[in-house]
Amino acid sequence: MAAVGVKLGDIGSHWTNACKQAVRDLNLLFRRKGIDVTLAINGAGPTINVKTDPSILGTLVHGKTHAETDGTGKLAKAEVRLPVKLSINTPKGVRDAGVGYAEVIAAHEFVHALGHEPHNSHLMAQTFSKLPGDSPAGDKLTAGGASLPPLELSDDSITQLKSIWS
Ligand SMILES: [Zn+2]
Repeated sequence: MAAVGVKLGDIGSHWTNACKQAVRDLNLLFRRKGIDVTLAINGAGPTINVKTDPSILGTLVHGKTHAETDGTGKLAKAEVRLPVKLSINTPKGVRDAGVGYAEVIAAHEFVHALGHEPHNSHLMAQTFSKLPGDSPAGDKLTAGGASLPPLELSDDSITQLKSIWS
């Protein structure tokens, strides 16, 4: 079983919680789908460094990931940059987005770091649509007919990850 570490920078409690939840939920998905890699906060192995970047707008539903791979396509190291704050437009006005919404974005970037270059449906959607909840806890992102969280990997993403981590 390959191990990949996730090192959280000074990203605030909202992102810290979201990233920890993303690591837990992605590990469960990877087990269930037979993808042979485990993420661990501050764990051993190649590292995904996570930081916030004030130049990424909080209204976007995407971070930015730069990953370097070894000769077999496995991760050597990666940097994930997230917007400082996520906002969502609701019928009652703009407010900070909930932690589940942040988890989906963090997980999306972690999957990029693990080697999923092209975007496609579900978690690896090129375009997420925002679906505000009645409260931040109910905020969702929709993609390819699925609403997230709970996290879900598309079949193409599973195939791609399995081809790298097996
Ligand atoms: Zn993406």
